[in-house]
Amino acid sequence: MKVKVDKNLCIGCGACQSIEPSVFELEDDGLAKAIDTEINKEIKENVMDAIEGCPTSAISEVE
Ligand code: SF4
Repeated sequence: MKVKVDKNLCIGCGACQSIEPSVFELEDDGLAKAIDTEINKEIKENVMDAIEGCPTSAISEVE
């Protein structure tokens, strides 16, 4: 599983980064980016929480 962030939807609230900083980071433009990494079992629950918790539904699974 991998995830991506749609920057057209992201409002830079930082919630995803707070939940799982090993996957999500806010960039210089103030918007989140998903680090291109395979989501392992240990962090998958946090990543799912981030997907569900994103206020603009900007995060989606890519595979
Ligand atoms: S939770 Fe959603 S809106 Fe907030 S920074 Fe992350 S991707 Fe952007």
